[in-house]
Amino acid sequence: MSFSLSISAPRLKALHSHGLHTDQDLLDFVPRRYLDRNAVSSIGLLRGAGEEVTVIGTVKDIRTDNKRLEVFISDSSGELKCVWFRGINYFKKLLKPGDEVSVYGKVQRFGRWLSIAHPDLEKIKDNTNPTKTVGTIPVYASNSFFKKVWLTSQVFQQWASELLRTTALPDILPESVRLRLKLKNRHQAYISVHNPENLKDAQNGKTYLKFEELFLFELAVHTLKLRAESQQTLLRFNGPGELTKLFFRDALPFNLTDGQVKALKDIRSDFESGRLMNRLIQGDVGSGKTVVAIGAILMMLDNGYQAAFMAPTEILAEQHYRTLCQYLSQLDVDIRLLTGKRTSRQKRDILDAAAQGNPMIVAGTHALIQQGVELPRLGLIVVDEQHRFGVEQRARFANNPISPHTLAMSATPIPRSLALSVFGKLDISVIKGLPAGRKPIKTGIRPDSKREDVYRFLDTVLKEGGQVYIVYPLVEESEALDLENAMDGFEVIRKRFPDYSVGLLHGRMKADEKEAVMSSFESGETSLLVSTTVIEVGINVPNASVMVIEHAERFGLSQLHQLRGRIGRGSKQSYCILITSPKQSKTGKERLRAMTETNDGFLISEADLRLRGPGDFLGTRQSGVPEFKFADLVEDEALLAEAAAQVSLLLEDDPKLEKPEHQPLRLYFEKYLNERRKFFEMM
Ligand code: ADP
Ligand code: MG
Repeated sequence: MSFSLSISAPRLKALHSHGLHTDQDLLDFVPRRYLDRNAVSSIGLLRGAGEEVTVIGTVKDIRTDNKRLEVFISDSSGELKCVWFRGINYFKKLLKPGDEVSVYGKVQRFGRWLSIAHPDLEKIKDNTNPTKTVGTIPVYASNSFFKKVWLTSQVFQQWASELLRTTALPDILPESVRLRLKLKNRHQAYISVHNPENLKDAQNGKTYLKFEELFLFELAVHTLKLRAESQQTLLRFNGPGELTKLFFRDALPFNLTDGQVKALKDIRSDFESGRLMNRLIQGDVGSGKTVVAIGAILMMLDNGYQAAFMAPTEILAEQHYRTLCQYLSQLDVDIRLLTGKRTSRQKRDILDAAAQGNPMIVAGTHALIQQGVELPRLGLIVVDEQHRFGVEQRARFANNPISPHTLAMSATPIPRSLALSVFGKLDISVIKGLPAGRKPIKTGIRPDSKREDVYRFLDTVLKEGGQVYIVYPLVEESEALDLENAMDGFEVIRKRFPDYSVGLLHGRMKADEKEAVMSSFESGETSLLVSTTVIEVGINVPNASVMVIEHAERFGLSQLHQLRGRIGRGSKQSYCILITSPKQSKTGKERLRAMTETNDGFLISEADLRLRGPGDFLGTRQSGVPEFKFADLVEDEALLAEAAAQVSLLLEDDPKLEKPEHQPLRLYFEKYLNERRKFFEMM
C-alpha cells in the first residue's frame, strides 16, 4: 500500500490518518464541491451578510501582528479585508502588495469593513502555481491534519491530475451498459471530477462514479440472491384453509383496514409464487400489524407447517403470546411461549413437541433461535419490531430441511431505496393509515427548567383518571448511570405525586417483577409508570394518554417515535412531552423539532436517516454494511433503481459473467466481493 507519487513523510501521515493509502484512494477522494469562478462578485455590490462569494482583486496592503494577518484587497468597485488567525507566516510570505489574487469565502460586515476570515486564496498569474484560477475549481474536504501540512485543494487536484496523466483507468462497466446510459468512460469520469471543464462536466463525472458504485453493489445483491435461491428447498402451499377462514370470518372482532387486507394478499401471493418470501410489513405504530402476522401464520398452519413468532424483548414476546391466545381461543391451535424464564422442563416439553413436526406456533424472544430450537416443519418466521429484517435470523435456520419464509414487521420504516438495495429482494407491504377513530398525538418540547409546568399538566390528566408514562433513556455505554437516572426520577415522581400509585420498570428487573408492574399499569391500578426504554416496543395500554420523555435529545428519532407510539391508542387526546437538557446542539434541536411537526413514522425515519447515515440507522455499522464513497442512498434513489435494472439485464444476458466483454467487470467484482464478504454473507 503506497503511492506512486513522491509525498513527504508528514503529508503521508496525514493522508493515512484519513484512510488514504493508495493511488486509487487519492482518485476516489473526490471534491466535496466546486467553486464557479466564472461567477466573480464585485466588492462594491457585496452586502456582508454572510454570503459566499469569489472576488478577484489586487493586494493593496498587508498588516500583521502576532495574532492576526490582515490583507486588504481591492477591485475597481471597492475594498475588502481578508483576515487570518492561523497560517499567518505562510500567507505573509506568499503575498505582497500588487499581487492579483482570487479569494473565496463568507463575507461579513464589521462597521465600515467588509471582511472574510480564512478565505480560500489563490494567486493569479503566478507561474509557480499552475492551478487554474478561473472556471470550475474543485474544493476537497479538509481537516486540521491536512491544514497543518498544507494539503490544500490545489495539492489534491494536482496529484489527481498527475495520476490520471500517468495511468489509464480501464472501464469496469460493460460497454452495453455505458451505451444504454450514455455514460462516457471511467478515466474520463475521474478527469471530469478532478478537473472539470464546467459544473455540468463535474456533475457527469460524479454521476458516473456513483452509478458504478451502485452497480457493483446491486450486482453483489443480485448474484448472491441467485446463489441462495438455488440452494433453497421450498415448502408446498395449497392456499389458505379452515383455520384461516374461521379466524377471519368468525374470530376477528373488527373489520380489517384496507392496508391490512392488501398486506395479507401480498403474503398469500408470495406463498403461492413458488419463491421464498422475504417481506417487510411497514406500518406505523398502532396500524395493526399483529393481525396480519396472525393471518400469515394461520395460512402456514393450514398447510401443516410450524411458525415462529419472534420479538425483541420478553415483555413483548409475552404480550404476543397473550394476544395469540386471545385471538385464537376459539380455534384449535397449539401455541407455545418460549422465553428465558421457562423452566428447563417446560422448555423440553416445547422442544419435544416442536421436534415432532406438528403444526404449532412458538412465540418467544430471539433467544428462541439462539438456543437452537429444532422446528423441522418451520414454514414461517415472523420477526416483530426488527429493523434488520430477519436476515440473520434466517441464516440461523439455514440447516433446516425446508427454507422458511420470513415476515418482518416494523414501524420504523427504512426508505424503500435503502431496503431494496441493502436487502436485495426484500418486498415491502405498506399499511397506510390507522384503524378508524384514533386522534393524532400532540407533541411538545419543554426545557428542563419548565419541569414544574409539565407536572402541573400531569396533575390535571391524573385527576381525570388518565395514566402517564415517564421514560428515561437507556444507553448501553452508561447503563448503570441511566438506571440511576430512572431510579432518581422514580423517587422525584413519587414525592411530587403522593396521591397516585407510581410504578418503576427497567431492564434489570426479574421477569415476574416486570410482569407485575406491567399488569398493574394495564389494569389502571398504577397511574404513573416510570420506565427505561424497555417499554419501547409493542406495549399496548390504551388508557395511557400522556408520555413524558426525559433527556429526549439522547434518543434517536425513530426510537422516540416508537416510544410515542405507546400512547394515542385510545379515543382520548394524547400528549407527548419531550424534556430536554439545557446543553444541546443545533442538530439536536432540529431533530426534535421533526417530532413535533409530524406523527408520520415514514417522514421521521427519513429525517433520522439523513441525520445519522445508513450504517448507524440500521445498527449495522459493525456488521460491515458497505459505506458508499460517492453515492447517497437517499438522494440517489433514482440512480440506484437504474443500477438495479441494468444489473438485471446484464445477468439475464450473462448470468455467470462468462462473456469475454464482461471479464474486466468480473475480475473487479470478485475483488469487490472479497472486501465486503462479511456483509454480503449475511444476506
Ligand atoms: P402495531 O402495528 O403497532 O403492532 P397492533 O397490531 O398492536 O399494532 O394493533 C394495535 C391495536 O389496534 C390492537 O389493540 C389491535 O387489536 C387493534 N387493531 C388492529 N387492527 C384493527 C382494525 N382493523 N380495526 C380496529 N382495531 C384494530
Ligand atoms: Mg406491534
